[in-house]
Amino acid sequence: MRWLTSAIVVAFIATLISYNSITITTTAAAQVQQTVLQAPAPEKRVAIIGGGAAGTSAAYWINNAFPKGISDSVKVSATIYERNSYLGGRSTVVPIKDDPALGLIEVGASIYIERNYNLMNATERFGLERTRLVDGEDDDGRIRSKKGLGIWDGEQFLFEESGNDYWDSIKILWRYGYSPVKFKNHLKAIIERFSEGVYHDDDSIPAFRDVGEALALFGIDALVNETAADYLEKRHGISEKFVREIIQTASRANYGQDVEALHAFGALVSMAASGSWATKGGNFQIFEEFAKRSGAAIELETAVMEVQNITVFDEHTGEPVQRYVVITEDGMDIYDTVLMTAPLHSVGIELPYSTVLPAHRQYHTVHVTMVAGVPDPSYFGRTQETMPTMVVSTGSPLTDHFSGGEQPFTTFAIHKYLDDTGESVVKMFSSKAMSEDALDRLFVSRSWTLRKEWEAFPDLVPITEDGWPTMILDGFNKEEDNGILYINAFESCISTMETETVASKNAVRFLREQWCGDAYCVPFGDGWGDD
Ligand SMILES: Cc1cc2nc3c(=O)[nH]c(=O)nc-3n(C[C@H](O)[C@H](O)[C@H](O)COP(=O)(O)OP(=O)(O)OC[C@H]3O[C@@H](n4cnc5c(N)ncnc54)[C@H](O)[C@@H]3O)c2cc1C
Repeated sequence: MRWLTSAIVVAFIATLISYNSITITTTAAAQVQQTVLQAPAPEKRVAIIGGGAAGTSAAYWINNAFPKGISDSVKVSATIYERNSYLGGRSTVVPIKDDPALGLIEVGASIYIERNYNLMNATERFGLERTRLVDGEDDDGRIRSKKGLGIWDGEQFLFEESGNDYWDSIKILWRYGYSPVKFKNHLKAIIERFSEGVYHDDDSIPAFRDVGEALALFGIDALVNETAADYLEKRHGISEKFVREIIQTASRANYGQDVEALHAFGALVSMAASGSWATKGGNFQIFEEFAKRSGAAIELETAVMEVQNITVFDEHTGEPVQRYVVITEDGMDIYDTVLMTAPLHSVGIELPYSTVLPAHRQYHTVHVTMVAGVPDPSYFGRTQETMPTMVVSTGSPLTDHFSGGEQPFTTFAIHKYLDDTGESVVKMFSSKAMSEDALDRLFVSRSWTLRKEWEAFPDLVPITEDGWPTMILDGFNKEEDNGILYINAFESCISTMETETVASKNAVRFLREQWCGDAYCVPFGDGWGDD
């Protein structure tokens, strides 16, 4: 296959030769060299592979960093390649009961928090309405079930929110002592430090080049090299009860991972998720807007199959310039730089021989099961009125009450009431596919069941200094100001929609450093431009 496409590339380059006054050498297998006539392209061309949070925001930041219409500045054009028929990637919706009139429900990434500056800012600037995700109210605002969270150990609720913040605080203090206060203060300090490092408008702060560098820059390196259990219980003296019941509930709800496996930062990010928002009509709209406003060319239903590097010799300077051929099923095109904005193991793309392949990160499988039906509150020993809206099952070591020690679900959340049928729309996450039997025990009746399996996010296990994937896969060295950047390298530290937009903004800062040396570029600041 590689040989076949190499041959196609050579043929394609031959057709380009008549338009370029440069010498072209492929570094791929065929190693052809030809001399041709014309000056280098007047602008940098960037291929973005992936139209999710990372790819669409990258296109938007590029447009703000290199705005069109400024005559003396570096010009950059971008093309987004997306193999799906939609933008948003893991941020996508399905119509409830396959009927858009009943509303849409997130089947992937659902929530973001107040402190997620990019997503909050995007919804405001793009005129998108925010909403809360789990709601115990029906369309007329009537309370249909008790709002709040219940922590289920297979036999009983170990802890339940009452809906009254004051009363809940007292219950928490009573059950967990001083640990929640100690944890809250620690979390606040970490999140503030992280936010200060991540969100800035100072063009003189260098972009990070690998994840290890970023972690040090954001002051979280000590949080990712040990498990949340060790970090919180042993290092910070937070009680095991609070860690295993409350913090682990959050980490299971967010990442389906227990505190004995997950690194501390993953657990802290999960606990920061209170007061969360979703976008009315679907979070994917944020990413559609990023793409639309970027002015990038958008190639939907176009899977990239291969990227090859070619060396182009400028006939005036004689200097070699690295460029990239992006090959899809429909054709190919040449770019100066490629941004990989999807998990590398999932893209099915053959990369140049010179590519530095980062260490493979295992991804965590999440099964999403959506049901429209009538839940059976007696499963939880409750009535409809006393049933929590969101149930999270306990993890290790609190698994004795689950049959075979295995929880049938990680989360069970009531998202909506359908007034016409009296049904609820429930979304469940689990680490294995939910059996029909388990669903029959959880529901009195079901009229719609939809299943979706995701390779959702990396197993966020602790990693030491040198185990983080590099961001620069090819090029960008002393000789080259072009190359391939891997934006999703950052996902191996933490995987959220927001952090993907942070990583893509960093990549664009990095491109500015490469391309704005002698040439003029407008200030980038916080990346939002004048939009
Ligand atoms: C079930 C689930 C729940 C989640 N919950 C949350 C949450 O509540 N909040 C949150 O912030 N995050 C959540 N996440 C994580 C979040 O979805 C990701 O961190 C984020 O969406 C990743 O965005 P991305 O653009 O980096 O990758 P993706 O969204 O995966 O986008 C990559 C894109 O690249 C495309 N692509 C891949 N290969 C090719 C190719 N060869 N050619 C062309 N296109 C290609 C893919 O089709 C895809 O659209 C959740 C994820 C899942 C699965």
